[in-house]
This record gives sequence, structure tokens and C-alpha cells, in this order.
Amino acid sequence: MLNCREITQQASAYLDNRDEPERKPDLQFRLHLMLCRHCRRFIRQLHSARVLAAKVQSEQQRTEQGDQTLARLKRRN
Ligand SMILES: [Zn+2]
Repeated sequence: MLNCREITQQASAYLDNRDEPERKPDLQFRLHLMLCRHCRRFIRQLHSARVLAAKVQSEQQRTEQGDQTLARLKRRN
């Protein structure tokens, strides 16, 4: 049985692999999550932090692309 510390150490990898069907999440890991609400909360928070970070990153990229387009347009005029 994994302990809470091991869960937090593997949490990021768990979230990475969760959406890949060929890499099934560790059964031990899921079992711990079923039994431990602290780790469930931790995973949930980590997940929303990652979603938020991805959103911010894609918005930054969009802004940069927008800036580049603007710069191109300015050069052309
Ligand atoms: Zn736990």
C-alpha cells in the first residue's frame, strides 16, 4: 500500500498518464485515492492548478502571436 507521501510524489505522473489509455494508472495509486480523502483533494487541486497553468500558457502564446501579427501589419504599412 502506498502512503500519502508516495502519492504526492507520483501525483504529477499520475495526472500525465491518466489520459493515456495504454498506460493505466497504478491500481495501488487509485486504491489509495479511494481510501484517502486528503490525497483525493491534493490530486484535485494539483489537477486544477495544471489546467489553470495550461490555460495561462496558451493565452500567453496567443498574445505573443497577436503581437507578432500586429508587428507584421505595422511593418507592412
Ligand atoms: Zn493519502
